[in-house]
Amino acid sequence: MDYLKRKNIPAKIQLEVWNRDNWHCRYCDKPIFYTLSLKILDKINPKHSYFHPNGKTGEILPLFIYSWASVDHVKPFSKQGSDEKENYVSACWECNMKYGNMEVGQGKPEPKGIIESNWDGFYGLYFKLKK
Ligand SMILES: [Zn+2]
Repeated sequence: MDYLKRKNIPAKIQLEVWNRDNWHCRYCDKPIFYTLSLKILDKINPKHSYFHPNGKTGEILPLFIYSWASVDHVKPFSKQGSDEKENYVSACWECNMKYGNMEVGQGKPEPKGIIESNWDGFYGLYFKLKK
């Protein structure tokens, strides 16, 4: 992924997208996790590999490294995709890395519908733990 061409999406908008999508990846249906909650869990339980700043293999549980919540531009921003919520979907980190700069039909699958779920990606936990 070309980080220089990547445009930051405001945290508030990202949360709206993850909540809209019930905290599941729209490409592979995998539940995704709120990174800030994993950071706190790691601080409270050091050496349990909940989080690593670079997601270093061996330093973070594989379940979490590939499942960080991210927001993907369905039509890539670098290819004139709009910066609107309609062009955003929730993506696990694995799919974001895999499809980041691709276009639908050219390697990137069509995003799936929103899954019915009460999963919150540990977002609720964040407010309990950060006190
Ligand atoms: Zn995925």
